[in-house]
Amino acid sequence: MADIGVLGLGVMGRNLSLNLADHGYVTAVFNRHPEVTDRFLAECRQREPSWTWLQGFHELEAFVNAIERPRRIVLLVKAGDPTDLTIDNLLPFLDPGDILIDCGNAHWLDTIRRERELRRQEILFVGSGISGGETGARFGPSLMAGGSLEAWKRIEPVWLDIAAKVDPKTGDPIEGAAPGKPVREGEPCAAWVGENGAGHYVKMVHNGIEYIDMQLIAESYWLLKHLGGFDNPTLADIFARWNQGDLASYLIAITAEILRQPDPAGKGYLIDKILDAAGQKGTGKWAATSALDLGVPANALAEAVFARFLAALVEQRHQASRVLNGPQPLQATDPDALTRQLERCLYSAKICAYAQGFQLMQAAQEKYGWHFDFATIARIWRGGCIIRARFLNRIAAAFDTSPDLANLLLAGDFRRVLSEDHAAWRRSVADAVLSGLPVPALSSALAYYDSYRSERLPANLIQAQRDYFGAHTYERVDRPRGAFFHFDWHGSRQEIYSD
Ligand code: NDP
Repeated sequence: MADIGVLGLGVMGRNLSLNLADHGYVTAVFNRHPEVTDRFLAECRQREPSWTWLQGFHELEAFVNAIERPRRIVLLVKAGDPTDLTIDNLLPFLDPGDILIDCGNAHWLDTIRRERELRRQEILFVGSGISGGETGARFGPSLMAGGSLEAWKRIEPVWLDIAAKVDPKTGDPIEGAAPGKPVREGEPCAAWVGENGAGHYVKMVHNGIEYIDMQLIAESYWLLKHLGGFDNPTLADIFARWNQGDLASYLIAITAEILRQPDPAGKGYLIDKILDAAGQKGTGKWAATSALDLGVPANALAEAVFARFLAALVEQRHQASRVLNGPQPLQATDPDALTRQLERCLYSAKICAYAQGFQLMQAAQEKYGWHFDFATIARIWRGGCIIRARFLNRIAAAFDTSPDLANLLLAGDFRRVLSEDHAAWRRSVADAVLSGLPVPALSSALAYYDSYRSERLPANLIQAQRDYFGAHTYERVDRPRGAFFHFDWHGSRQEIYSD
């Protein structure tokens, strides 16, 4: 009998099956088009040492019957309707107590609905976020599971086995996994984060942070290139150096590698030949929409999504560039000083990005009745996933010290960094603005920082305007919160207490 089943043999399903097989789990595999299953197993036979642990099936019933009961079946199919369709097709063959684990990028509200509907039929449903793309799925992803604790207990050993591992002393990811040689030591980057849709919500926030992180790095690259005048090999060296310090992370490391890549189709570098129109699959938009719905000021997150929308207007931008004026970029007189300044700028903005992501999860847990352990979430993002970064150790430590921390910016460690580095951040944004170089994420994160630390904001005027045209009332600074007043702007010009 198979220990576990994987349904859906796309990029993720194939690689997760091999990861499971490497860890000694007999894995039944199925794909709606049987030729995909056959091709996968034929390829495995040639080059994968663990292929004998895989069992392929053409019929759904035979696939289900091959798995030990109560069954554990991982779904890795396209999110949305295909997932519902797949579950409907599976249901006639399942028994009470079986567990379905959806690792697709499902919307958390779909996961809440599916968990509720399947519970009525005594099927346990886990929505587990998975991050790390193809390589993560193959050699160790970050896994964020949501569902009942009963279901989690049944999948926990498997999830801890196949997840990425970090060194318990340094907190850095343990690299070096290879086919047939999985990493077995270290702290696993997998955890149960809460009931029903919690895992998929946390994964969505991970992707939202990924959007900001990438946008912040792209803007820093642009400033280095245009203000510093660095060529690609020098830019690559700068990112490689940054990867040794506070900014150490997967995204910074791959940026250095990308910048070094010559164009395989001609002269120059590949980066300069790639069209500047970023794509997206929607999880960043979900995160920004959720922030709007929950009233969370995640402005950098929204800006990162808008920046991709704007970049996608390639033809319009080309036309506008010929008719709309702007300044010439400033030229840095001291390129090394610029590099140091931008390193501090990027780190400060990155702290804000993560602060916004964690604030979003704080608001969501109230709305959906989850109880997130934020230190654990930070820890399981240290390995396997796209936003893995050394400074997640600092975030975990901040939440260990104060589990109810209202905002990461208030944690002692980050407060100190920001009070030292905000000047470099301001200088960088000012240089960008004066040079006509767009930095929507760096500047909106700075606006977030300045707004959050402002004892007073000009919202008093907004409230007065609202009261003026719509009698929407206002609170007074010299009265307790919750007492509302209206000023009769158009008549008696008296202030009226309004309960
Ligand atoms: P692929 O496009 O490589 O594979 C999609 C899989 O879904 C295939 O097995 C396909 O079957 C199946 N499928 C598509 N439509 C249907 C349908 N109507 N009914 C049944 N099965 C269907 O996708 P990935 O492997 O990249 O992604 C799988 C899931 O994992 C998605 O939800 C994705 O969002 C998520 N994910 C992807 C990541 C990535 O980096 N790629 C990272 C994290 C999560 P067939 O071969 O027969 O078409």
